[in-house]
Amino acid sequence: MMLIKTADALVATGLVEDASGLEAVAAKYAIGITPAVVALIEAGEPDDPIARQFVPTAAELVTTPEERVDPIGDLSHSPVEGVVHRYPDRVLLKAVHVCPVYCRFCFRREMVGPQGLGTLTAAELDAAIAYIAGHTEIWEVILTGGDPLVLSPRRLREITARLAGISHVKIVRFHTRLPVVEPQRVDEALVEALKASGKTTYLAVHANHPREFSPEAKAAMGRLVDGGIVLVSQSVLLRGVNDSVETLAELMRCFVENRVKPYYLHHPDLAPGTSHFRLSIEEGQALVAGLRGRISGLAQPTYILDIPGGHGKADIGAAEISGGDGCFTVRDYRGGEHRYPPE
Ligand code: SF4
Repeated sequence: MMLIKTADALVATGLVEDASGLEAVAAKYAIGITPAVVALIEAGEPDDPIARQFVPTAAELVTTPEERVDPIGDLSHSPVEGVVHRYPDRVLLKAVHVCPVYCRFCFRREMVGPQGLGTLTAAELDAAIAYIAGHTEIWEVILTGGDPLVLSPRRLREITARLAGISHVKIVRFHTRLPVVEPQRVDEALVEALKASGKTTYLAVHANHPREFSPEAKAAMGRLVDGGIVLVSQSVLLRGVNDSVETLAELMRCFVENRVKPYYLHHPDLAPGTSHFRLSIEEGQALVAGLRGRISGLAQPTYILDIPGGHGKADIGAAEISGGDGCFTVRDYRGGEHRYPPE
């Protein structure tokens, strides 16, 4: 089976019955569904949480007033093409704006895909690396995009080798969907290419539902950890995908069982045509509060809002403490309130 990229291919493979309206969606936002993802979808199940993440719907044509083309303000913090420098000690390096799949809720959906910002040219990559080399406060380089793991091991090796040569960079981090959506591509050559000599490589695995942990995906994560890469998770809280305590608990446990430390649970960003995925922050806080006590501390993610406009991330997990002046009220995982210090 080939990569599904068009409305007609969605019909031909039986993922949708009727493509009407989807041509208009496809004209705006890229479609991409790999065979590994198709295998995860339960055919004929209209509310399938995997299909909901990847199969386009006409709901994407509805844009609400608060939605914006650049929801987390990448463009206003980009000193050179492909670099986002939002916090002093770390930068995003967006070498490529292509992904193996196209998530229907993507926060960078206006930038990724065949009509997106493309891949950095050799000169642009030179300028991006020169920027990083010239800013000694940069401790961490985060390769995102797009999905940087669409690059060949040879291209990735070129980038990691150049980062290895910058003494103030200590951490190289990749953000990717690949272990779940194209696990067979995570082979020894790719794992080796992610490592920058003398640096520590972290990789954030993007998965949103426990069913994404196929035997092949688990094996890919295992190859990464065994290859010396530290894995952390990132998930997006999505209506109709993982908006229950049970599903989130199982998802976080899947990460931990596969040696992926739960890291970020993102509140969905204000990307155009994604309102059908968004929960309120209160709903998100109630779900996150429900995880406390229910699952191990190892499995707790941080619930994060990327403040629109590029103001960075805020931890919006349920506030468990209030008060001040040495006198606080702390809420336990059952909702009980306690004075601190105790009377
Ligand atoms: S893999 Fe990431 S960047 Fe690519 S479409 Fe999905 S959310 Fe967007």
